[in-house]
Amino acid sequence: MTAGAQGAALGTGIHISDLHKEFRVGTRTVTALQNANLHTDQGSFLALLGPSGCGKSTILRILAGLEGPSSGTTRVDGKSPKELRRDNELGIAFQDHALLPWRSVYSNIRLPFEVAGKRPDTTYIDELIDLVGLRGFEKAKPAQLSGGMRQRVSIARSLVMKPSVLLLDEPFGALDDMTRQRLNLELLRIWTEKPATTLLVTHGISEAIFLADKVAVMSPRPGRIKEIIDIDLPRPRTPEMMRTPEFHAYVDQASELLFGVGGAAAED
Ligand code: ADP
Repeated sequence: MTAGAQGAALGTGIHISDLHKEFRVGTRTVTALQNANLHTDQGSFLALLGPSGCGKSTILRILAGLEGPSSGTTRVDGKSPKELRRDNELGIAFQDHALLPWRSVYSNIRLPFEVAGKRPDTTYIDELIDLVGLRGFEKAKPAQLSGGMRQRVSIARSLVMKPSVLLLDEPFGALDDMTRQRLNLELLRIWTEKPATTLLVTHGISEAIFLADKVAVMSPRPGRIKEIIDIDLPRPRTPEMMRTPEFHAYVDQASELLFGVGGAAAED
């Protein structure tokens, strides 16, 4: 049995089955998602790649239980969104870091314990502050931090309940390219140290290929999954890998799916 088939049999990993989502906008109906199917293994890294409006965030929001599907089901490690939330199994980070401005770095990271009515694991909070490189900034307020540092706080906060599932919606999307690349490397390091079944929403082709085990290429109007590319690059991934022919071949494949033949020049 392959690892994928094993995962399916055990009910582990992300399972999205015949997911369909429509929104009513006035008298119009927008099909945000048409019959999406996706399956990944536990502990794997999935990227949803596509232009604005192709339904990436809708998938993430349904998995997180923030939105209900019109039809279809999602399960992660055999659990529904409601069960995942109840069991504090979800860690979520958005592009807009959504930190509370009046709270320090430390107490923003501690927040999920308060929301869950649990005693904060101070040892673990300290460990995470080191892991995301914010030692010395524990007492700083978000306004005193750079954009990249705020996103690190957001990532630390998403990990603090030791979630088995990490949902990342363009967490570094608002940052400049260099900061974004550096934080992607750090994200990989953190993901290796604290493995979780991960879903990343992105419109960056290289970023998706560099980070993920599987890239689901999506297209808009109606939002649907066009193709799933298995990224067979070794781990740990290094920036040098982005210059290899194998990497470029994946970029070409994804670009063709997104823009048609010869579309590579339009990347990002
Ligand atoms: P992406 O994350 O790929 O940019 P979204 O999942 O945000 O795409 O949106 C997919 C489609 O659904 C878009 O056409 C968007 O306008 C529409 N949509 C998303 N959320 C809503 C909503 N709450 N009400 C109406 N339309 C929505």
